[in-house]
Amino acid sequence: MRPSHLHYLKLLLLVALGGVTTTHVPLQDVPSSLKALPLDGHFSFQDVSAAARDFGNLSSFPPVAVLHPGSVADIATTVRHVFLMGEHSTLTVAARGHGHSLYGQSQAAGGIVISMESLQSNRMRVHPGASPYVDASGGELWINVLHETLKYGLAPKSWTDYLHLTVGGTLSNAGVSGQTFRHGPQISNVNELEIVTGRGDIITCSPEQNSDLFHAALGGLGQFGIITRARIPLEPAPEMVRWIRVLYSDFTSFTADQEMLISAEKTFDYIEGFVIINRTGILNNWRSSFNPQDPVQASQFESDGKVLFCLEMTKNFNPNDADIMEQEVNTLLSKLTYIPPSLFHTDVTYIEFLDRVHSSEMKLRAKGMWEVPHPWLNIIIPRSRIHKFAREVFGKILKDSNNGPILLYPVNKSRWDNRTSAIIPDEEVFYLVAFLSSALGPHNIKHTLDLNNKIIEFSDKAGIGVKQYLPNYTREQEWQSHFGARWDTFQQRKKAYDPLTILAPGQRIFQKASASLPLPS
Ligand code: FAD
Repeated sequence: MRPSHLHYLKLLLLVALGGVTTTHVPLQDVPSSLKALPLDGHFSFQDVSAAARDFGNLSSFPPVAVLHPGSVADIATTVRHVFLMGEHSTLTVAARGHGHSLYGQSQAAGGIVISMESLQSNRMRVHPGASPYVDASGGELWINVLHETLKYGLAPKSWTDYLHLTVGGTLSNAGVSGQTFRHGPQISNVNELEIVTGRGDIITCSPEQNSDLFHAALGGLGQFGIITRARIPLEPAPEMVRWIRVLYSDFTSFTADQEMLISAEKTFDYIEGFVIINRTGILNNWRSSFNPQDPVQASQFESDGKVLFCLEMTKNFNPNDADIMEQEVNTLLSKLTYIPPSLFHTDVTYIEFLDRVHSSEMKLRAKGMWEVPHPWLNIIIPRSRIHKFAREVFGKILKDSNNGPILLYPVNKSRWDNRTSAIIPDEEVFYLVAFLSSALGPHNIKHTLDLNNKIIEFSDKAGIGVKQYLPNYTREQEWQSHFGARWDTFQQRKKAYDPLTILAPGQRIFQKASASLPLPS
C-alpha cells in the first residue's frame, strides 16, 4: 500500500530542485509517419508544454506530439498507427481530459497526448422520453453536460464535487460525491460507451454488448481504451437546493449521524462531511452566503481550537413545494446530534450548488492560488476502521487543516457495480477521505508529502485496509496489492484490449517493453 519509494524520492528530488520534474524529447525524434496520417484534426509538435502539466503540478513529462482530434476516427487512426509500429516502438498514447490528474497520470513522456476536449459539444445529444439519457463525448466537461441537459429539465444523477472535469476522465476513475451513497458513483450510472481500444478498434459496449470491455473501462484508469462517447441516464432536475451545514465536536456522533442518514429510506439528496482542525472562532469565519438558524447563539460559539466535523447535506426542491421540503428537512434534522448553534443553511439553484467549487476556483485563480502544486491524497477506508484512523490522523499526525479541505463521508457498497475495474473495500459501508492540500513552495510540498506518507504508513501498520482513490503507485508489487484478487483479471483485460501497453502510460501500471519512465533531469 505504501507509495513507491522511487516515486516518493523523485518527488522529493523535484522539491529540492525547486520545481516540477521535466524531461525533453528532441524534436528530430518525432516519428515523421505521424505527420502523414490522414486526419480531420491535426497534430501539434511544437507547442506541447500544456500537455506536460496537470492539476497536481508536481510532474511534467513532455510528449512528442499532441493530437487535436477532429473525429473519433482520428483517435482510432492514431492508436492503430502506433499499434502497427509494433512492440519495439517506444511510442505511447495518453488521452488527456481536462488534465486534472495529480501525479502525471494524464501525461505521456515522449508519447502522444490526445486532447480529448477537441471532441466536445458537437457530439452531445439529449434524448428525453420515458428513460431519458444524454450521449456525450468522452472529452466533454460535466458542466457542459449539466447546461445541455437542463435545457430539457433533466440532469445526470451522480456527480463529482467539481464539474470542470471530463466525462472520460471521471469514468476512468469512479466519479464520487455526496450523491454516491444513493445512486452509486458515476461509473454505476452509464448505459453505454464507445471506446477506441489499444489496437485502434472502435467498439460500442454496454452491460449487454461487449460487456467485458464496458466493465473493464469503467474505473479502468484509461488502461483498456479511450472513451470517446458515454451514454448517461438522466432524471428530472430540481430547481432549487436547501444546502445545510452543521458541526460536531465528537467524531462518533458525527459518523453515527452520517451513517444513519445514508442508510435511511427518506433522507437528504446529498451527504458529505469535512474535518476542521485547529481553527478558532470557526462560526465567525463561516461562509457569508450561509445563514445561521439562530444568529445570537451562533455569534457566541467558539471552537477553542478543537477538531470539529462538519456534516453537509442538501435537499432538492421546487419553489412550489418549499413547505414540504421545510417539513422533511426539520424531521431529518431533529434526529441529528450536532452542536445546536452550528446549524447554517442557504437556498441556491441546483446549478449553483453543483457548480459550487468553480466559484472557489475563480477566487483562488484571482489570487494566483489555483495553479500551485497539489499533493493530494485520496483514500477509501472500511467503516470498521474509520475510528482508529481518525484517532491517529486528526489532531495527531495532522495538526491543522490550513493547507486545504479534508473531506470525509460514507457511501454504500451496494450502489457500486462490482463488475467494474474500480477497487473498493470489502465492507458494506466505507468512507471516502480526501486530503486536498495546496502547497506553496518546496518546503511546503515536502511537508505535505511527508504527512501523506505518515498517514499511509500508519494505516499500513495499523491494518486499516486503506485503498487509494485516484491511485498513485509506480511498482508492480504496489499495483498488485492495490488490485488484490482482481489483479489477474486486470492483467488479462490489458492483454485483451491493449496488448502492446500503449495506453495511459502516466498511470505507471504497465510499461511498454522498450519504454521507461524518465527520472528528473
Ligand atoms: P485527466 O486528468 O485528463 O485524465 C485522468 C486519467 O484518465 C488519465 O490517465 C487519462 O489518460 C485518462 N483519461 C482521460 N480521458 C480519458 C478518456 N476519454 N478515455 C480513457 N481514459 C481517459 N474526482 C471525484 O471522483 N470526485 C470529486 O469530487 C472530484 N473533485 C475534484 C476536484 C478538483 C478540483 C480536481 C482537480 C479533481 C477532482 N476529482 C474528483 C478528481 C478527478 O476525477 C480526476 O482529476 C480525474 O483525473 C478527471 O480529470 P480529467 O477529466 O481532467 O482527466
